[in-house]
Amino acid sequence: MTTTTPQKFEFQAEIAQLLDIVTHSLYTEKEIFIRELVSNAADALEKLRHTQLTEKEIFDDQAGLEINLTTDDKAKTITIQDFGIGMTRAELVENLGTIAHSGSKAFLKALGAGEQKNASLIGQFGVGFYSAFMVAKSVKVYAHSWRTAEPGHLWLSDGSGSYEIEEAGDQRRGCKIVIELKDDCTEFASDGRIKEILERYSAFVSFPISLNGKRINTVQALWLRGKNEIKEEEYTEFYKFQAHAYEDPSLRLHFSADAPLAINALLFVPQENTEKLGLSRLEPAVSLYCRRVLIDAAPKDLLPDWLRFLKGVVDSEDLPLNISRETMQDKALIEKLNRVITKRFLKFLDEEAAARPDSYLKFYANFGLFLKEGAALDFAHKDQLVKLLRFESSLTDKTKSTSLADYVTRMGSEQKEIYYLTGANRTTIESGPYLEGFKARNLEVLFCYEPVDEYVMNNVRMFDGRRLIAADHADVKLTNLPQPPEGALSTDDTKTLTTWLKEALGDRVAEVKASERLVDSPALAINADKFMSAHMRRMMKAMDKEGADTPIKINLEINPRSAVMKRLFETHTAAPDRAKLVAEQILDNALISAGLLEDPTKMVARLYKLLESV
Ligand code: ADP
Ligand code: MG
Repeated sequence: MTTTTPQKFEFQAEIAQLLDIVTHSLYTEKEIFIRELVSNAADALEKLRHTQLTEKEIFDDQAGLEINLTTDDKAKTITIQDFGIGMTRAELVENLGTIAHSGSKAFLKALGAGEQKNASLIGQFGVGFYSAFMVAKSVKVYAHSWRTAEPGHLWLSDGSGSYEIEEAGDQRRGCKIVIELKDDCTEFASDGRIKEILERYSAFVSFPISLNGKRINTVQALWLRGKNEIKEEEYTEFYKFQAHAYEDPSLRLHFSADAPLAINALLFVPQENTEKLGLSRLEPAVSLYCRRVLIDAAPKDLLPDWLRFLKGVVDSEDLPLNISRETMQDKALIEKLNRVITKRFLKFLDEEAAARPDSYLKFYANFGLFLKEGAALDFAHKDQLVKLLRFESSLTDKTKSTSLADYVTRMGSEQKEIYYLTGANRTTIESGPYLEGFKARNLEVLFCYEPVDEYVMNNVRMFDGRRLIAADHADVKLTNLPQPPEGALSTDDTKTLTTWLKEALGDRVAEVKASERLVDSPALAINADKFMSAHMRRMMKAMDKEGADTPIKINLEINPRSAVMKRLFETHTAAPDRAKLVAEQILDNALISAGLLEDPTKMVARLYKLLESV
């Protein structure tokens, strides 16, 4: 059925419509046509590789499995040649003249759904072969099928309604596509420009790509190889290339999955958390590939926000190459990928924490903030994330830390809640008045040093069926000590003193009572405001938020065993004026420990007054 004279064909109506949009589109990223044509070439080579397994007679069997690009800036052309399976005459008609393939179909469907002829849609769908017409005056496809029976052909079109096919002899196997560039697209005849595009999109295509005789892609698609055959240095080199990093990665996860999706992923945790170092918020950096061809270098929804510190690649065969571009059309698929990868990475961290606790703690010191963010905000992964959190505690040594799970194993049968205290560091928390009551009762208290901790603990709320509660929270009820220390004020005297204190301090306190929490310190202040903790209040003040200035409800708790209280009890009748100054000072001291003293100037004046009377 071959003819030697050119035969003219009309494009199928849909293709004509598509070409009309493509050729007239103002879509700015015209360079994607390179990616499309190179990925077609790679597909054709992949298919040939398969064909070679079963077929003995293959045309031009010596041709290497490679892709060659040449540019000619005088003739204003770019040529892409592959030695893949090629196309027969019938295949040229079928593949390039009708709408047989997914990407363009989806594109037209989106247009059909009532949308405007929108140039940006091209970018989202990648219209495959036809994207060449964004830059082409004319496209010539020289094709020779791997089948030996048929001669080669030239397919030719200027993208306006029709195309021609004629026999063309003397050809290599595969396809050679020659694009004559439009006058405003001559940049694509420049070696430098094409090199840059190829390096960006096709660095990991598994077949050698050359541009004007020079090999372009040397870094391999490491993620598709078996773990056992990859050397440590190869991983490191790949990471540095891919993440544009200078240091080695600190952690690495290389995994593949078959179900529910075919995934090959290679993920890295960098050495430093640059967000923590004060640099700007990290942007997603795990790239999405489909069979080694880049789909999106920085897809927004591939991973949850709190995993934005990860680098690396995810390659999924299940991703239709032509769909999902900038805005990721196929949301459901991306969400599925997201779930699988996130779950796997969490499992990996869990295993790291168990197998290499020191390395995990190093990671945690740098990147724990992200896990906390996830624990507080990502409801779907909260439970797994909370398990990964680590805190120092009143029972750990300095710089050692515990998980919540370990904390729970140490809880006595009486203890119903998990206690924590926030403060700048261990010394601050240990020297404050809040811990002593817990220490005396042998109750473990977690130490939280980071500003976000309180927010995180509040959002997490529960672990293993137990409530997380701040040890300085008004709701905390402690049991009586088995042996109350001796030498305390009597119950009556204590009552008298607390009543007097309430009177002396007036509006500054909501309530004054004897404390169960105190062992050594004379007094402590409890923020009795259920809705705003001291810490939240400081944050609101810092952010200049409304409501930060409303007076907070303070409960003052005193220690009837403290020498200060005994002395105060004596002076409150003997020298009431001075006693009142002392009472105010005790309250201010307690507020300082609670981080609630807002204006120290009054206190300074009062202190001088007290000092006068010494
Ligand atoms: P897709 O790659 O999604 O199928 P394209 O528009 O990119 O869509 O390509 C259309 C079809 O043309 C391909 O499916 C393939 O059959 C054929 N084709 C394109 N380029 C080549 C090539 N270099 N070698 C062999 N066949 C090709
Ligand atoms: Mg394609």
